[in-house]
Amino acid sequence: MSDEFIPFYKPYIDKKEINSVVESMESGWLTTGPKVKEFQNKFADYVGSKHALAVNSCTAGLHLLLVAAGIGEGDEVITTSMTFAATANVIVEVGAKPVLVDIDPKTFNMDIQDLERKITDKTKAIIPVHMAGQPCEMDEIMKLAKERDIYVFEDAAHAIWTKYKGKMVGNISDGTAFSFYATKNLCTGEGGMVTTNNDELAENIRINTLHGISRDAYDRYTNKEASWYYEIVTPGYKYNMPDINAAMGIEQLNKLEEMQKRRKEIADIYTEAFKEVPEVKVPYVKDDIRHAWHLYIILLEVEMLKIDRNEFINKLTELNLGTSVHFIPIHFHPYYKENYGFEEGDFPNCEYVFERNISLPFYPAMTDEQVYQVIDRVKQVIEEVRR
Ligand SMILES: *Cc1c(COP(=O)(O)O)cnc(C)c1O
Repeated sequence: MSDEFIPFYKPYIDKKEINSVVESMESGWLTTGPKVKEFQNKFADYVGSKHALAVNSCTAGLHLLLVAAGIGEGDEVITTSMTFAATANVIVEVGAKPVLVDIDPKTFNMDIQDLERKITDKTKAIIPVHMAGQPCEMDEIMKLAKERDIYVFEDAAHAIWTKYKGKMVGNISDGTAFSFYATKNLCTGEGGMVTTNNDELAENIRINTLHGISRDAYDRYTNKEASWYYEIVTPGYKYNMPDINAAMGIEQLNKLEEMQKRRKEIADIYTEAFKEVPEVKVPYVKDDIRHAWHLYIILLEVEMLKIDRNEFINKLTELNLGTSVHFIPIHFHPYYKENYGFEEGDFPNCEYVFERNISLPFYPAMTDEQVYQVIDRVKQVIEEVRR
Protein backbone atom coordinates (compact mmCIF):
# COMPACT_ATOMS: atom_id res chain seq x y z
CA MET A 1 0.00 0.00 0.00
CA SER A 2 2.67 2.47 0.95
CA ASP A 3 4.36 2.31 -2.46
CA GLU A 4 1.13 2.46 -4.48
CA PHE A 5 1.47 4.88 -7.40
CA ILE A 6 -0.50 8.08 -6.80
CA PRO A 7 -1.14 9.86 -10.10
CA PHE A 8 -1.08 13.63 -10.39
CA TYR A 9 -4.65 13.58 -11.61
CA LYS A 10 -7.62 11.27 -12.04
CA PRO A 11 -11.08 12.45 -13.17
CA TYR A 12 -14.10 11.92 -10.92
CA ILE A 13 -16.63 10.27 -13.19
CA ASP A 14 -19.49 7.98 -12.24
CA LYS A 15 -22.55 6.32 -13.79
CA LYS A 16 -24.36 9.66 -14.13
CA GLU A 17 -21.90 11.03 -16.69
CA ILE A 18 -21.62 7.66 -18.41
CA ASN A 19 -25.40 7.25 -18.72
CA SER A 20 -25.82 10.81 -19.89
CA VAL A 21 -23.20 10.39 -22.63
CA VAL A 22 -24.75 7.08 -23.74
CA GLU A 23 -28.19 8.70 -23.85
CA SER A 24 -26.79 11.49 -25.98
CA MET A 25 -25.22 8.97 -28.38
CA GLU A 26 -28.43 6.96 -28.59
CA SER A 27 -30.42 10.09 -29.37
CA GLY A 28 -28.57 10.33 -32.67
CA TRP A 29 -27.60 13.97 -32.05
CA LEU A 30 -23.83 13.95 -31.58
CA THR A 31 -22.72 17.46 -32.46
CA THR A 32 -23.93 20.79 -31.05
CA GLY A 33 -27.62 20.42 -30.18
CA PRO A 34 -30.06 20.15 -27.27
CA LYS A 35 -27.48 19.08 -24.66
CA VAL A 36 -25.29 22.07 -25.47
CA LYS A 37 -28.30 24.39 -25.15
CA GLU A 38 -29.16 22.88 -21.79
CA PHE A 39 -25.55 23.09 -20.57
CA GLN A 40 -25.27 26.74 -21.65
CA ASN A 41 -28.50 27.67 -19.86
CA LYS A 42 -27.48 25.90 -16.67
CA PHE A 43 -24.03 27.44 -16.78
CA ALA A 44 -25.35 30.98 -17.30
CA ASP A 45 -27.71 30.47 -14.32
CA TYR A 46 -24.86 29.09 -12.28
CA VAL A 47 -22.49 32.05 -12.69
CA GLY A 48 -25.30 34.60 -13.06
CA SER A 49 -24.23 35.85 -16.49
CA LYS A 50 -26.54 36.89 -19.32
CA HIS A 51 -24.83 34.66 -21.89
CA ALA A 52 -22.93 31.38 -21.75
CA LEU A 53 -21.48 30.09 -25.00
CA ALA A 54 -20.10 26.56 -25.15
CA VAL A 55 -16.88 26.01 -27.09
CA ASN A 56 -14.42 23.15 -27.47
CA SER A 57 -11.71 24.64 -25.22
CA CYS A 58 -10.85 27.57 -23.01
CA THR A 59 -8.19 28.47 -25.56
CA ALA A 60 -10.90 28.78 -28.23
CA GLY A 61 -12.96 30.91 -25.83
CA LEU A 62 -10.12 33.34 -25.16
CA HIS A 63 -9.36 33.54 -28.88
CA LEU A 64 -13.02 34.29 -29.69
CA LEU A 65 -13.17 37.03 -27.05
CA LEU A 66 -10.19 38.81 -28.62
CA VAL A 67 -11.68 38.37 -32.12
CA ALA A 68 -15.07 39.69 -30.94
CA ALA A 69 -13.38 42.75 -29.43
CA GLY A 70 -11.77 43.45 -32.81
CA ILE A 71 -8.25 43.15 -31.42
CA GLY A 72 -5.44 42.59 -33.91
CA GLU A 73 -2.37 44.03 -35.61
CA GLY A 74 -0.90 47.05 -33.79
CA ASP A 75 -2.72 46.33 -30.52
CA GLU A 76 -1.27 45.20 -27.21
CA VAL A 77 -2.84 42.74 -24.79
CA ILE A 78 -1.52 42.39 -21.25
CA THR A 79 -1.39 39.12 -19.33
CA THR A 80 0.76 37.46 -16.68
CA SER A 81 3.89 35.44 -17.32
CA MET A 82 2.66 32.91 -14.76
CA THR A 83 0.13 31.08 -16.94
CA PHE A 84 -0.32 28.27 -19.39
CA ALA A 85 0.99 29.08 -22.88
CA ALA A 86 -2.55 29.24 -24.33
CA THR A 87 -3.25 32.58 -22.64
CA ALA A 88 -0.36 34.23 -24.52
CA ASN A 89 -0.69 32.16 -27.71
CA VAL A 90 -4.17 33.52 -28.47
CA ILE A 91 -2.84 37.09 -28.29
CA VAL A 92 -0.26 36.20 -30.93
CA GLU A 93 -2.93 34.35 -32.92
CA VAL A 94 -5.00 37.53 -33.46
CA GLY A 95 -1.87 39.46 -34.48
CA ALA A 96 -1.56 41.55 -31.31
CA LYS A 97 1.52 41.94 -29.12
CA PRO A 98 1.60 40.01 -25.83
CA VAL A 99 2.76 42.24 -22.97
CA LEU A 100 3.63 40.40 -19.77
CA VAL A 101 3.50 41.43 -16.14
CA ASP A 102 5.05 39.97 -13.00
CA ILE A 103 3.09 38.37 -10.17
CA ASP A 104 2.42 38.87 -6.51
CA PRO A 105 4.62 36.12 -4.98
CA LYS A 106 1.95 35.28 -2.39
CA THR A 107 -1.09 34.80 -4.62
CA PHE A 108 0.80 34.07 -7.89
CA ASN A 109 -1.64 36.49 -9.56
CA MET A 110 -0.92 39.54 -11.71
CA ASP A 111 0.88 42.33 -9.85
CA ILE A 112 -1.33 45.42 -10.07
CA GLN A 113 1.49 47.98 -9.97
CA ASP A 114 3.36 46.23 -12.76
CA LEU A 115 0.09 46.02 -14.70
CA GLU A 116 -0.43 49.77 -14.40
CA ARG A 117 3.15 50.40 -15.59
CA LYS A 118 2.65 48.24 -18.69
CA ILE A 119 -0.53 49.94 -19.93
CA THR A 120 0.05 52.08 -23.05
CA ASP A 121 -2.13 53.82 -25.66
CA LYS A 122 -2.04 50.56 -27.61
CA THR A 123 -3.39 48.39 -24.79
CA LYS A 124 -6.75 46.96 -25.88
CA ALA A 125 -7.30 44.20 -23.35
CA ILE A 126 -6.08 42.72 -20.08
CA ILE A 127 -6.31 38.97 -19.45
CA PRO A 128 -6.06 38.22 -15.71
CA VAL A 129 -5.52 34.57 -14.78
CA HIS A 130 -6.95 33.33 -11.48
CA MET A 131 -4.08 31.08 -10.47
CA ALA A 132 -5.06 27.80 -8.85
CA GLY A 133 -8.58 29.16 -8.29
CA GLN A 134 -7.71 32.26 -6.26
CA PRO A 135 -9.21 35.39 -7.84
CA CYS A 136 -7.10 38.33 -9.02
CA GLU A 137 -7.67 41.82 -7.60
CA MET A 138 -10.62 42.38 -9.94
CA ASP A 139 -11.78 45.72 -8.49
CA GLU A 140 -8.38 47.26 -9.17
CA ILE A 141 -8.03 45.66 -12.59
CA MET A 142 -11.54 46.77 -13.65
CA LYS A 143 -10.86 50.29 -12.41
CA LEU A 144 -7.61 50.60 -14.40
CA ALA A 145 -9.34 49.22 -17.49
CA LYS A 146 -12.55 51.28 -17.29
CA GLU A 147 -10.65 54.55 -16.92
CA ARG A 148 -8.92 53.79 -20.21
CA ASP A 149 -11.61 51.96 -22.18
CA ILE A 150 -9.74 48.66 -22.13
CA TYR A 151 -11.45 45.26 -22.22
CA VAL A 152 -10.94 42.78 -19.38
CA PHE A 153 -11.24 39.12 -20.35
CA GLU A 154 -10.63 36.62 -17.57
CA ASP A 155 -8.82 33.33 -18.04
CA ALA A 156 -10.92 31.33 -15.57
CA ALA A 157 -9.50 27.92 -16.50
CA HIS A 158 -8.90 27.36 -12.76
CA ALA A 159 -11.75 29.45 -11.45
CA ILE A 160 -15.12 27.76 -11.80
CA TRP A 161 -16.70 28.20 -8.32
CA THR A 162 -14.38 31.10 -7.47
CA LYS A 163 -15.94 34.15 -5.85
CA TYR A 164 -14.39 37.59 -5.57
CA LYS A 165 -15.94 39.77 -2.85
CA GLY A 166 -19.16 37.79 -3.09
CA LYS A 167 -19.32 37.90 -6.89
CA MET A 168 -19.03 34.78 -9.03
CA VAL A 169 -16.16 34.70 -11.51
CA GLY A 170 -17.92 34.68 -14.87
CA ASN A 171 -20.00 37.73 -14.05
CA ILE A 172 -17.39 40.38 -13.25
CA SER A 173 -15.58 41.53 -16.40
CA ASP A 174 -16.39 41.91 -20.11
CA GLY A 175 -15.93 38.21 -20.80
CA THR A 176 -14.69 35.08 -19.05
CA ALA A 177 -13.36 31.83 -20.49
CA PHE A 178 -13.61 28.56 -18.52
CA SER A 179 -11.87 25.26 -19.29
CA PHE A 180 -13.37 21.78 -19.08
CA TYR A 181 -10.11 20.08 -20.03
CA ALA A 182 -9.62 16.60 -18.51
CA THR A 183 -7.80 17.82 -15.39
CA LYS A 184 -9.95 20.86 -14.58
CA ASN A 185 -12.48 21.12 -11.71
CA LEU A 186 -15.35 20.46 -14.11
CA CYS A 187 -14.31 18.27 -17.03
CA THR A 188 -15.86 17.22 -20.31
CA GLY A 189 -12.66 15.68 -21.74
CA GLU A 190 -12.12 18.76 -23.87
CA GLY A 191 -14.36 21.80 -23.68
CA GLY A 192 -14.85 25.36 -22.55
CA MET A 193 -17.42 28.07 -21.89
CA VAL A 194 -17.43 31.80 -22.47
CA THR A 195 -19.66 33.95 -20.30
CA THR A 196 -20.47 37.60 -20.88
CA ASN A 197 -23.16 40.18 -20.19
CA ASN A 198 -22.38 41.99 -23.46
CA ASP A 199 -24.94 41.16 -26.20
CA GLU A 200 -22.69 42.23 -29.06
CA LEU A 201 -19.71 40.18 -27.91
CA ALA A 202 -22.00 37.19 -27.34
CA GLU A 203 -23.51 37.34 -30.83
CA ASN A 204 -20.10 37.71 -32.45
CA ILE A 205 -18.73 34.76 -30.47
CA ARG A 206 -21.76 32.61 -31.30
CA ILE A 207 -21.29 33.20 -35.02
CA ASN A 208 -17.50 32.80 -34.99
CA THR A 209 -17.75 29.53 -33.04
CA LEU A 210 -19.27 27.80 -36.06
CA HIS A 211 -17.69 28.88 -39.35
CA GLY A 212 -19.24 32.35 -39.31
CA ILE A 213 -22.67 30.87 -40.05
CA SER A 214 -25.52 33.13 -39.07
CA ARG A 215 -27.57 30.31 -37.43
CA ASP A 216 -26.26 27.19 -35.70
CA ALA A 217 -26.80 23.62 -36.94
CA TYR A 218 -29.56 22.87 -34.47
CA ASP A 219 -31.65 25.80 -35.61
CA ARG A 220 -31.01 25.00 -39.26
CA TYR A 221 -32.01 21.36 -39.17
CA THR A 222 -34.99 21.88 -36.96
CA ASN A 223 -36.38 24.78 -38.97
CA LYS A 224 -38.60 23.02 -41.50
CA GLU A 225 -39.01 26.05 -43.73
CA ALA A 226 -35.44 26.34 -44.98
CA SER A 227 -33.39 23.55 -43.46
CA TRP A 228 -30.64 23.74 -46.08
CA TYR A 229 -30.05 27.49 -46.01
CA TYR A 230 -27.21 29.30 -44.28
CA GLU A 231 -25.16 32.44 -44.70
CA ILE A 232 -21.51 33.08 -43.96
CA VAL A 233 -21.21 36.55 -42.47
CA THR A 234 -17.54 36.28 -41.42
CA PRO A 235 -14.78 33.68 -42.00
CA GLY A 236 -15.28 32.00 -38.62
CA TYR A 237 -13.77 29.06 -36.77
CA LYS A 238 -14.76 25.51 -35.84
CA TYR A 239 -14.89 25.80 -32.07
CA ASN A 240 -18.31 24.31 -31.24
CA MET A 241 -18.84 21.87 -28.37
CA PRO A 242 -20.37 18.48 -29.29
CA ASP A 243 -23.49 17.29 -27.43
CA ILE A 244 -21.56 14.26 -26.14
CA ASN A 245 -19.27 16.58 -24.17
CA ALA A 246 -22.15 18.77 -23.00
CA ALA A 247 -23.95 15.64 -21.72
CA MET A 248 -20.95 15.03 -19.48
CA GLY A 249 -20.70 18.69 -18.52
CA ILE A 250 -24.31 18.86 -17.29
CA GLU A 251 -23.70 15.98 -14.87
CA GLN A 252 -20.37 17.43 -13.75
CA LEU A 253 -22.07 20.76 -13.02
CA ASN A 254 -24.76 18.91 -11.01
CA LYS A 255 -22.08 17.49 -8.71
CA LEU A 256 -19.77 20.49 -8.66
CA GLU A 257 -20.68 21.41 -5.06
CA GLU A 258 -19.85 17.90 -3.91
CA MET A 259 -16.54 17.89 -5.79
CA GLN A 260 -15.60 21.33 -4.46
CA LYS A 261 -16.39 20.25 -0.91
CA ARG A 262 -13.96 17.38 -1.28
CA ARG A 263 -11.27 19.65 -2.79
CA LYS A 264 -11.58 21.96 0.20
CA GLU A 265 -11.34 19.02 2.62
CA ILE A 266 -8.15 17.77 0.99
CA ALA A 267 -6.69 21.29 0.91
CA ASP A 268 -7.35 21.61 4.65
CA ILE A 269 -5.67 18.28 5.38
CA TYR A 270 -2.58 19.26 3.36
CA THR A 271 -2.37 22.73 4.91
CA GLU A 272 -2.72 21.41 8.43
CA ALA A 273 -0.03 18.76 7.86
CA PHE A 274 2.51 20.99 6.11
CA LYS A 275 2.16 23.87 8.58
CA GLU A 276 4.63 22.09 10.83
CA VAL A 277 7.18 21.58 8.01
CA PRO A 278 9.28 24.76 7.72
CA GLU A 279 10.69 23.74 4.32
CA VAL A 280 7.20 23.73 2.80
CA LYS A 281 5.20 26.91 2.27
CA VAL A 282 1.47 26.24 1.97
CA PRO A 283 -0.88 28.23 -0.29
CA TYR A 284 -1.82 31.72 0.82
CA VAL A 285 -5.56 32.42 0.75
CA LYS A 286 -6.90 35.97 0.61
CA ASP A 287 -9.81 37.21 2.74
CA ASP A 288 -13.16 37.96 1.17
CA ILE A 289 -12.86 35.38 -1.61
CA ARG A 290 -13.94 31.82 -2.32
CA HIS A 291 -11.01 29.77 -3.59
CA ALA A 292 -11.86 27.11 -6.19
CA TRP A 293 -8.92 24.96 -5.15
CA HIS A 294 -8.04 23.79 -8.65
CA LEU A 295 -4.41 23.20 -7.72
CA TYR A 296 -2.62 22.66 -4.46
CA ILE A 297 0.76 24.31 -5.00
CA ILE A 298 3.47 24.19 -2.37
CA LEU A 299 6.61 26.32 -2.48
CA LEU A 300 9.79 24.57 -1.40
CA GLU A 301 12.09 26.71 0.72
CA VAL A 302 15.02 25.53 -1.40
CA GLU A 303 17.57 27.47 0.69
CA MET A 304 16.81 25.03 3.50
CA LEU A 305 17.39 21.98 1.29
CA LYS A 306 20.42 20.29 -0.22
CA ILE A 307 18.70 19.82 -3.57
CA ASP A 308 16.67 21.98 -5.96
CA ARG A 309 13.03 21.66 -6.98
CA ASN A 310 13.75 19.47 -10.02
CA GLU A 311 15.73 16.97 -7.97
CA PHE A 312 13.01 17.07 -5.33
CA ILE A 313 10.44 16.08 -7.96
CA ASN A 314 12.72 13.26 -9.14
CA LYS A 315 12.79 11.92 -5.59
CA LEU A 316 8.98 12.08 -5.38
CA THR A 317 8.78 10.23 -8.70
CA GLU A 318 11.05 7.52 -7.25
CA LEU A 319 8.54 7.26 -4.41
CA ASN A 320 5.75 6.69 -6.96
CA LEU A 321 4.21 10.12 -6.52
CA GLY A 322 2.96 12.02 -9.55
CA THR A 323 3.38 15.81 -9.38
CA SER A 324 3.48 18.77 -11.75
CA VAL A 325 4.73 22.36 -12.00
CA HIS A 326 2.41 25.31 -12.70
CA PHE A 327 3.66 27.02 -14.76
CA ILE A 328 6.79 27.34 -16.86
CA PRO A 329 6.71 31.16 -17.22
CA ILE A 330 5.71 32.45 -20.66
CA HIS A 331 8.93 34.45 -20.90
CA PHE A 332 11.00 31.24 -20.59
CA HIS A 333 9.61 29.73 -23.79
CA PRO A 334 11.88 29.99 -26.86
CA TYR A 335 9.15 31.43 -29.10
CA TYR A 336 8.47 34.33 -26.74
CA LYS A 337 12.16 34.98 -26.12
CA GLU A 338 12.99 35.03 -29.80
CA ASN A 339 10.03 37.05 -31.00
CA TYR A 340 9.40 39.48 -28.16
CA GLY A 341 12.84 39.83 -26.58
CA PHE A 342 11.87 38.42 -23.18
CA GLU A 343 14.74 37.18 -21.03
CA GLU A 344 15.19 35.22 -17.87
CA GLY A 345 15.38 37.78 -15.09
CA ASP A 346 12.56 39.92 -16.52
CA PHE A 347 9.97 38.84 -13.94
CA PRO A 348 11.72 38.06 -10.64
CA ASN A 349 8.65 37.10 -8.59
CA CYS A 350 7.43 34.78 -11.29
CA GLU A 351 10.84 33.11 -11.45
CA TYR A 352 11.07 32.86 -7.66
CA VAL A 353 7.76 30.98 -7.61
CA PHE A 354 8.61 28.84 -10.64
CA GLU A 355 11.88 27.62 -9.09
CA ARG A 356 10.13 26.52 -5.90
CA ASN A 357 6.74 25.33 -6.96
CA ILE A 358 5.34 21.81 -6.94
CA SER A 359 1.70 20.90 -7.61
CA LEU A 360 0.67 17.95 -5.48
CA PRO A 361 -1.92 15.33 -6.50
CA PHE A 362 -5.23 17.04 -5.74
CA TYR A 363 -8.63 15.81 -6.91
CA PRO A 364 -11.97 14.69 -5.46
CA ALA A 365 -11.35 11.07 -6.45
CA MET A 366 -8.43 10.85 -3.97
CA THR A 367 -8.97 8.72 -0.88
CA ASP A 368 -7.92 9.96 2.58
CA GLU A 369 -5.33 7.19 2.56
CA GLN A 370 -3.82 8.63 -0.63
CA VAL A 371 -3.84 12.16 0.78
CA TYR A 372 -1.92 11.01 3.87
CA GLN A 373 0.45 9.04 1.63
CA VAL A 374 1.25 12.20 -0.34
CA ILE A 375 2.05 14.01 2.93
CA ASP A 376 4.22 11.14 4.17
CA ARG A 377 6.20 10.91 0.95
CA VAL A 378 6.85 14.66 0.76
CA LYS A 379 7.94 14.62 4.42
CA GLN A 380 10.15 11.60 3.76
CA VAL A 381 12.06 13.46 1.03
CA ILE A 382 12.32 16.58 3.23
CA GLU A 383 13.84 14.49 6.06
CA GLU A 384 16.39 13.10 3.62
CA VAL A 385 17.49 16.38 2.02
CA ARG A 386 17.10 19.04 4.69
CA ARG A 387 20.25 21.00 5.51
C1 LIG B 1 -5.90 24.63 -18.92
C2 LIG B 1 -5.62 26.07 -19.09
C3 LIG B 1 -5.93 26.75 -20.28
C4 LIG B 1 -6.38 26.05 -21.51
O1 LIG B 1 -7.57 25.37 -21.38
P1 LIG B 1 -8.06 24.46 -22.60
O2 LIG B 1 -9.48 24.17 -22.28
O3 LIG B 1 -7.19 23.24 -22.59
O4 LIG B 1 -7.90 25.25 -23.83
C5 LIG B 1 -5.77 28.12 -20.32
N1 LIG B 1 -5.27 28.79 -19.25
C6 LIG B 1 -4.94 28.18 -18.11
C7 LIG B 1 -4.42 28.99 -16.97
C8 LIG B 1 -5.07 26.79 -18.00
O5 LIG B 1 -4.71 26.17 -16.87
